[in-house]
Amino acid sequence: MIARARELDAADPLRAFRALFELPEGVIYLDGNSLGALPAATPARLEQVIRGEWGEGLIRSWNSADWIGAARRVGGKIAPLIGAQPHEVVAADSTSVNLFKLIAAALDMQREGQGARKVILSEPGNFPTDLYMIAGLERQGLAARRLADRDRLINALDGDVALLMLTHVHYKTGALHDMVELTKAAHAAGALVLWDLSHSCGALPVDLNAANADFAVGCGYKYLNGGPGAPAYAFVAERHHAALHQPLTGWFGHAAPFAFSDDYAPAEGIDRLQCGTSPILGLAALEVGVDLIAEIGVRRLYAKSQALSAFFLHCLGEWGLDIELASPIDGDARGSQLSFRHPEAYAICQALIARGVIGDFRDPDILRLGFAPAYLRFEDMAEAAGHLREVLHMDEWKRPEFRERATVT
Ligand SMILES: *Cc1c(COP(=O)(O)O)cnc(C)c1O
Repeated sequence: MIARARELDAADPLRAFRALFELPEGVIYLDGNSLGALPAATPARLEQVIRGEWGEGLIRSWNSADWIGAARRVGGKIAPLIGAQPHEVVAADSTSVNLFKLIAAALDMQREGQGARKVILSEPGNFPTDLYMIAGLERQGLAARRLADRDRLINALDGDVALLMLTHVHYKTGALHDMVELTKAAHAAGALVLWDLSHSCGALPVDLNAANADFAVGCGYKYLNGGPGAPAYAFVAERHHAALHQPLTGWFGHAAPFAFSDDYAPAEGIDRLQCGTSPILGLAALEVGVDLIAEIGVRRLYAKSQALSAFFLHCLGEWGLDIELASPIDGDARGSQLSFRHPEAYAICQALIARGVIGDFRDPDILRLGFAPAYLRFEDMAEAAGHLREVLHMDEWKRPEFRERATVT
């Protein structure tokens, strides 16, 4: 397996990009779908922003270093990765907050339109924050949550549904929704659509405008490698810009923030999605990650991600390893991860981490391995599969220290 892996690495057109990331010795990092690795250029860029732009430039840097334009500039660089136009995307806030703004904006649009639609349709088992962000609006009487299993979503689209809100690639299983088909069905039923691209952007090609999507959000610290708590991004299709009213009406979304007027007036276009002052350090780190992913290119990344996960499964098969796959077996039906179901998934994950193979555990029984294609090698796949085999065959996971739960899993 290792020899075959080395051949595949030698032929890999992306092999040189691994050197552009800082990866610790002795670690096989299979959690880039939760926190992306550190781009080698990030520390120097942050040093420059901190010492030069902040330390020397001080308040002048809002203009001279274009801090004021950072949210739009970084959003504009994310846009081509998700099939959007640069003026349709802004980098701001967290994914959770962007979900809130866009769910509320969609409800507002539906009130303007045909009357009483207030159902937000999603699927059970969607990422928790996506479901929780409906609750606050529900409490205020503005929204009503409806959940339907993925094979029933289209049936659940009736005349009460204001918004269909789904995560494109499921965080637990990696299963991919058909964005084109679901968007079309939602529109036919008079609903708007909001896609969460947290596990898609940077790992596979997304084409929001080809799918005619209305809204999207996504995370900056996963495949975009923006660092812990990096700003997220939000997309609004150009056709909705004029009618978009989001409830977090802060001064950075004002038409003229530095007019210091007493009255709110929304900015033109996507800028009205901003709320408060941009986190400049976070945006600077995110920009480095986005530039790198854009340079490698999402099509090449997706091709490699599929080859990596197929090779990982091949290794398991060659070694006769029998562990239940929770992800779709068909590479075209999943994102850049493989999830396995096992009652002792937590302890198995801890035993792997002790061996330097970092994946993660998702309650109650999922071992999740993410294959960030920008910096992983086929050799990592062969080695990680070998470690998994040993952990299972030697019952290593039964050791008591692997069964104690930490706060973050
Ligand atoms: C990671 C992730 C989030 C993260 O939201 P935060 O507000 O950054 O904590 C949201 N949705 C999905 C689907 C995710 O995978």
